[in-house]
Amino acid sequence: MLENGIRVRGRLAPSPTGALHLGNARSFMIAWLSVRRRAGSLVLRMEDLDHPKNKPGAAAEALADLRWLGFDWDEGPDVGGPHAPYTQTARTALYAAALERLRAQGLAYPCVCTRRDVEAGQSAPHAEEGLYYPGTCRGRFEDFEAARRALPEGRLPAWRFRVPEGETVRFEDGFCGPCAQEVSAHSGDFVLARDARGAGYMLAVVVDDAAMGITEVVRGDDLLSATPRQMLLYRALGLKPPAFTHVPLVVSEEGRRLAKRHGDTRISALREAGLPPGKIIGLLAWWCGWAAWGECLTLRELLPRFDLRTLPHAPAVLTRQVREELGIRI
Ligand code: GLU
Repeated sequence: MLENGIRVRGRLAPSPTGALHLGNARSFMIAWLSVRRRAGSLVLRMEDLDHPKNKPGAAAEALADLRWLGFDWDEGPDVGGPHAPYTQTARTALYAAALERLRAQGLAYPCVCTRRDVEAGQSAPHAEEGLYYPGTCRGRFEDFEAARRALPEGRLPAWRFRVPEGETVRFEDGFCGPCAQEVSAHSGDFVLARDARGAGYMLAVVVDDAAMGITEVVRGDDLLSATPRQMLLYRALGLKPPAFTHVPLVVSEEGRRLAKRHGDTRISALREAGLPPGKIIGLLAWWCGWAAWGECLTLRELLPRFDLRTLPHAPAVLTRQVREELGIRI
């Protein structure tokens, strides 16, 4: 279906930092339904840039888990497509070119601060939100070489984005409504690349969503506060941002992010325990208000019921009732 003359293109962007679990499966389900409901096309992009939590084999497992749940995509690492490669580690030349563009405009500067330096300088706890950077290295070094010389042998400076002072970035979220954030007060100059070679998440996701012609991003609301930073990058690179829709996460009964101590919610564990995929989709849909309790159904059967207006604004809760239904023990 065309929207303003453009075919809807969405994406699923798993990171191999852990196994696919009920929480990310729910966000992916909403993203898939939103696109397929309008007969749009879907890209699967593996976001495997260097991350301390990346796990070997997790990328292939995530694809297998998604397939087993009934997801499909039109382009991706396993099916190819016109925007290949669909794996971020194979796309680093694009990120380097974007970084160079920002650098040439004076919008990127080298930074020698360690994470520990930045943590030590926090005036308020920012743990959940990411760290605030006070601009210590802004204007400090003539060029990358000068910054490198300030570091011990073997360490390379990072690159940070020069955030406009005092500007409030505004956008309309497809679920959360109007959003506004003053990025210079919220995160300050943020990291574009951890060293001269490696791009960071923030730059890579913008470059890729634009290069792949993504028109809508549907993802967990843990990334809502990162979106204004991404909007600044779209503008600086002369790119058109997609429409954003951020949906609530699945949390524990105490309102925390899902962790091992809340039981094994990995899709692979539920499959091994003998649960059919329809049971899991049914439960994910029940959480969204689109299925009755205990219903078993496929993603395709859910399509006519997809409606963001009935999606609860409160997070979905992994209650005891849900755990018992799925046989998840703690
Ligand atoms: N790869 C990111 C993650 O798994 C998601 C990025 C995005 O949706 O923008 O957290």
